[in-house]
Amino acid sequence: MATQRILDFLATRRPAGPCLVVDLDVVRDNYHAFERALPDSRIYYAVKANPAPEILRLLAAMGSSFDTASVAEIEMAMDAGAPADRISFGNTIKKERDIARAYELGIRLYAVDCVEEVEKVARAAPGARVFCRVLTDGEGAEWPLSRKFGCVPDMAVDVLRSAAVLGLEPYGVSFHVGSQQTDLSAWDRALTDAKRVFSTLAEEGIVLNMVNMGGGFPTRYLREVPVAEAYGRAIFSALRKHFGNRIPETIIEPGRGMVGNAGTIKSEVVLISKKSDTDDVRWVYLDIGKFGGLAETMDEAIRYPIVTARDGGAAGPCVLAGPTCDSADVMYEKTPYPLPLSLTIGDEVLIEGTGAYTTTYASVAFNGFEPLRSYVI
Ligand SMILES: *Cc1c(COP(=O)(O)O)cnc(C)c1O
Repeated sequence: MATQRILDFLATRRPAGPCLVVDLDVVRDNYHAFERALPDSRIYYAVKANPAPEILRLLAAMGSSFDTASVAEIEMAMDAGAPADRISFGNTIKKERDIARAYELGIRLYAVDCVEEVEKVARAAPGARVFCRVLTDGEGAEWPLSRKFGCVPDMAVDVLRSAAVLGLEPYGVSFHVGSQQTDLSAWDRALTDAKRVFSTLAEEGIVLNMVNMGGGFPTRYLREVPVAEAYGRAIFSALRKHFGNRIPETIIEPGRGMVGNAGTIKSEVVLISKKSDTDDVRWVYLDIGKFGGLAETMDEAIRYPIVTARDGGAAGPCVLAGPTCDSADVMYEKTPYPLPLSLTIGDEVLIEGTGAYTTTYASVAFNGFEPLRSYVI
């Protein structure tokens, strides 16, 4: 829910137009919760979730490391005060000249998931550390990241072996169990594969040091989610189960779980209408939609809590849509969203849990609507 600081900011500043307000106190609390939940893991904040400079500066000052996907994200993390040795180039899909630029900037930790990418890293970042991403099924996640990234464990063995042959340091294995992952056993399944890669390579004398356990830690939307501590316990017991008393260095890359609940979007009802006099379902058009930052409503995957000043009275089903002239700009239709019957054109609505994956997904000027404004307080 929106913090009092966010509500006070909106009440006193009254920013015009849709905007995201992020409360840094919540980000700080989330960082501490991850530290407490997994005290032996290093935290690499996934910059793509929300790269606002204030957030990056806070996390850099708290000692966080950063998972980046491009030269621009590397530079943002460095500008925020993170030294190169606290930044990984975690995208498995990189141009060779971007790898070279990252290497110039001092980055020495790279993600790969195929021999072709290893060859690029070997040429452009000689001697660097690489970790190989293995596929996961994304089962249990509301925003799965399966298929596109990673390879099967047997191939990961070949990939890391080729890294050694090409003069790189085969450093470890990574996976991502899928974003908004609420199944605590997902890490156990992925660690089974990671351990297999460790063991097979050890038989050849290649000793890996690190498991990158990715992101996936959820934000509470409409349903309750397990707390960070529960994730910590499940992950630690899975590490024990697979690695015994020789648990390698581990890192986590929270994105959504670090900033999702720190942000609230303020939006306004532009129109409420029906398609026929006999329809039960109202169409509610907001001044923000899929192209204004709510891209994760794609396939109605992420269902945000929506709060209005009229909550508490009778509610009825609504199709929720954005303001642009694209018929894809509909957030919730297959599963209509219940909103107060008294909701009126001009009302303000708060869309909660929107600190992650909103501002950067907003289009530049589709239909002339400016990108989502953001205030970090
Ligand atoms: C997006 C991403 C993350 C963050 O995932 P969340 O589910 O938001 O925590 C972490 N690692 C990598 C490699 C990613 O691509």
